[in-house]
Amino acid sequence: MPLQFHQFAYNSDNYGVLVHDPATGKTACVDAGEAGAVFEALKKTGWTLSDLWITHHHWDHTDGLAEVKSKTGCHVTGPEGIKGIDAVVKGSDSFEFAGHRVELIHTPGHTLDMLNFYLPGAGTVFTGDTLFVMGCGRLFEGDGPMMWASLQKLMALPPETVIYCAHEYTLASAAFALSIDPGNAALQAKVDRVKAMRASDVPTVPTDLATELATNPFLRPADKDIRAGLGMVDATDAEVFTEIRTRKDQF
Ligand code: ZN
Ligand code: FE
Repeated sequence: MPLQFHQFAYNSDNYGVLVHDPATGKTACVDAGEAGAVFEALKKTGWTLSDLWITHHHWDHTDGLAEVKSKTGCHVTGPEGIKGIDAVVKGSDSFEFAGHRVELIHTPGHTLDMLNFYLPGAGTVFTGDTLFVMGCGRLFEGDGPMMWASLQKLMALPPETVIYCAHEYTLASAAFALSIDPGNAALQAKVDRVKAMRASDVPTVPTDLATELATNPFLRPADKDIRAGLGMVDATDAEVFTEIRTRKDQF
């Protein structure tokens, strides 16, 4: 039986996701920024939490960890250095969740500890604050070449991969993307779609890799028109990526 997913919002713009295996009844939650929101999502679905997967150490992904763990007894998997983790994992590790393979992808850049959880059987990846809809995470701990290397790991997944990211930053990301890639018809169409979705309060997450490859400027430093617009025709992809990331910080 396929895994089921339930996304829920918390704080001003965060998303968490419950991952449920109907055959065994096991349920994992991706991140625990706010314990109350996790409990509400569990109540709504009627699912019982067995596992918690932490992407990185930032407060909006970990503040509820201790309370969720103490109230549910869940098994916590995540990167080194976070209090309350039962199974410390690193990039290219894998584990089984209710008979489903989960592969860890280390994507440093936003933070150095960032882990993304990839479910190849379900064709789904949880990208934390690395890859957003038409955007990518701010470089708090890493640099441009590091983040570009991380994004390339995600770009190598099958194009139909479903991407859950941890923030609804889409409208701001869309405005910036248009400034970098104004002639991109796929981007223009995507921006129209997400504007309509947000006007009706519909989440723009999840997205999928094929759409991001076509519309997300942070995945498109090789694009001729983007390079020409930046005056960086002969630069490396990492240099173009870094310039786009710098411009986003100033946008
Ligand atoms: Zn973060
Ligand atoms: Fe965050």
